[in-house]
Amino acid sequence: MSEDKELILLIEDEPQMRRFLRITLQSQGYRLVEAETGSDGLLQAASRNPDVVLLDLGLPDIDGLEVTTRLREWTATPIIIISAREQEQDKVKALDAGADDYLTKPFSAGELLARIRVSLRHALRQRAGRQEPVFVLHDLRVDLALRQVFLADREVHLTPIEYKLLITLVRHAGKVITHRQLLHEVWGPAHVNEVQYLRVYMTQLRHKLEADPARPRFLMNEPGIGYRLKFDPEG
Ligand code: CA
Repeated sequence: MSEDKELILLIEDEPQMRRFLRITLQSQGYRLVEAETGSDGLLQAASRNPDVVLLDLGLPDIDGLEVTTRLREWTATPIIIISAREQEQDKVKALDAGADDYLTKPFSAGELLARIRVSLRHALRQRAGRQEPVFVLHDLRVDLALRQVFLADREVHLTPIEYKLLITLVRHAGKVITHRQLLHEVWGPAHVNEVQYLRVYMTQLRHKLEADPARPRFLMNEPGIGYRLKFDPEG
């Protein structure tokens, strides 16, 4: 197996889940290191410097939220949370603490691989320190340099807030952003609890950008968590 394929650190205590992830990841050629506890995971992260961390929230020693916080004290490596449905609130906390994305069990191999590709792509772009000046997704084109938005070559006029909301989603394309993070970035730190702003402006944005606002193709709602601009670099 090639040595330059990305290294993934899997922190998960359930043997069956580890087995599923091992088979999925190795079938794609990813290198893998496994840890069954949070403390071993932290140790492995420090010694192996993985390209992506897959992190279960419910671990036998320290929980995944604490692991996220401790990783973010020294590394920007992408963290994808894997959680059970009853850990909803912790999931949001982990995302706000710096995790990049999440998967709720059970999830498909295809979903997992897509999230990993998105995270790797973001990490690469962050290291390069720049964003492509033009973002394209289906018939949507956002020219970040000229601040213009086109839908199938027709210019769409957005208000300053709508535009800011859209480019925040574009900057995180493919990844979930929590309500709190979006409110912080678009409206500022004093407004992180005003979830209704998001509902209003996201509805407006969908009416301007989606063919069928009731069934969005890319401005996706993540119930109880936030929003996601649906985008997979290879999917
Ligand atoms: Ca667990």
